[in-house]
Amino acid sequence: MTDEMRKIGIVGAGQMGPGIAHVVALAGYDVTIYDLSPERASRGVEKVSASFERKVASGKITSEDMQAALTRVHAAAGVADLADMDLVIEAATEDETVKRKIYAAVCPVLKPDAILATNTSSISITRLASATDRPDRFIGIHFMNPVPVMKLVELVRGIATGDRTFEISRGFVGSLDKTTTVSEDFPAFIVNRILLPMINEAIYTLYEGVGSVESIDTAMRLGANHPMGPLQLADFIGLDTCLSIMQVLHDGLADSKYRPCPLLVKYVEAGWLGRKTHRGFYDYRGDVPVPTR
Ligand code: NAD
Repeated sequence: MTDEMRKIGIVGAGQMGPGIAHVVALAGYDVTIYDLSPERASRGVEKVSASFERKVASGKITSEDMQAALTRVHAAAGVADLADMDLVIEAATEDETVKRKIYAAVCPVLKPDAILATNTSSISITRLASATDRPDRFIGIHFMNPVPVMKLVELVRGIATGDRTFEISRGFVGSLDKTTTVSEDFPAFIVNRILLPMINEAIYTLYEGVGSVESIDTAMRLGANHPMGPLQLADFIGLDTCLSIMQVLHDGLADSKYRPCPLLVKYVEAGWLGRKTHRGFYDYRGDVPVPTR
């Protein structure tokens, strides 16, 4: 733990929020998870508990560590429960309108010196900061999925992010035993600027009939030594999130090479968002994932 931080709020109990809560609670911080309803927040706490249990089963943590960390994870009954947080990490839907609404609700209850961070994968930190009452205490802290496994965290400064905010945030990430890279505030930062066009290209490869889901994923796993195929990875990230990131790249860099593949748009329109909705480029409703094309 760092001296400046004790209590950490997390907004969003989807795929990322509980993963962030997991590592933050294990590092000794007190964590409060907030979502649209107390029920969703409680489901977030249940996800943290389930991921702790997986770590105990694989021998990575002891059950004593798990019990101690679990006592530090709470579900928020409402936004007022974020009032005494030192840092709030927003990990809600990758949609600028949603994030702006959240800041409008959260900022008035925060302590004046609390830091507000976003886990956005692509949206401008400078623009998001301008929707808050604290651009100098606003920063991008971009965790990778799955948070308990991935070692990297990208730190992204907006134009107004203060030095103190940056240093405190860097210290905080270091206390989670993660490695930091610093990215400038350009669309999708470093990791997703490189990763998402590759995933989008894999979807074009499928769309144009160059290969099936299975051949594309096998080709990249065995031919490029990627641990996951790009379509499997897209399902893992969430196809709505992938589409939002491509739209941010396309709008922000105004280059047609970032045009989201129409097939990606179609899957999102169908509500086939990947693992989180049990269907995407694979169907996850049976015992083994089955390609949907
Ligand atoms: P998700 O769709 O799994 O979850 C989003 C959560 O936000 C949901 O629980 C939803 O109820 C909640 N939410 C929506 N509106 C809200 C509001 N007004 N108030 C409170 N909560 C609200 O999304 P995710 O995959 O967890 O992504 C969250 C953020 O993390 C996004 O900004 C995304 O770009 C980023 N991110 C995602 C990944 C990934 O691989 N999925 C990786 C790194 C960063």
